[in-house]
Amino acid sequence: MKTAIFAGSFDPITNGHLDILKSGTEIFDKVIIAVSYNANKKGFLPVETRVKLIEESVRSIKNTEVDYYAGLTVEYAKKRGASVLLRGLRNAGDFEYETQLSQTNAALNNSIKSVYLITKPEYCFVSSSAVREIFQNGGDVSKFVPAPVAEYLKNIR
Ligand code: ADP
Repeated sequence: MKTAIFAGSFDPITNGHLDILKSGTEIFDKVIIAVSYNANKKGFLPVETRVKLIEESVRSIKNTEVDYYAGLTVEYAKKRGASVLLRGLRNAGDFEYETQLSQTNAALNNSIKSVYLITKPEYCFVSSSAVREIFQNGGDVSKFVPAPVAEYLKNIR
């Protein structure tokens, strides 16, 4: 069984993330979407909230599991019996950043391979940081995020 880890901050999860996850589940037997967190870095939403919003957003997607972890992604992948790190690519900026990340992870554990999926055109400008910026300035984010995230953000406004 081929398990992939789709790791990220997901602060919050967006429709772009969801699309990569869905495509991943068509390729791999199971995709674990895992919130990576750093106890010293305060994010926008608490980790438990990010996990809860992902759980609510992925209910209709088969072969997926939601989790969170701290520390090295390759260590987490090994612990979960996963041999693939799934990531998304939007543009040349992502490509540069992800190239370094993939090479670093390969240097740490070369039996875990990074696999990239290119985003659909309609999601290439969607990012968690843009969602946070729009939300914090009173804008409507419902086009960019799954319904549970839009609902949650509406309620904390
Ligand atoms: P990180 O802090 O690890 O970059 P993110 O939550 O920002 O976490 O992103 C996780 C992964 O999802 C990264 O590979 C990122 O490039 C990808 N990603 C983010 N937004 C999109 C999008 N709109 N379409 C496709 N992939 C995306």
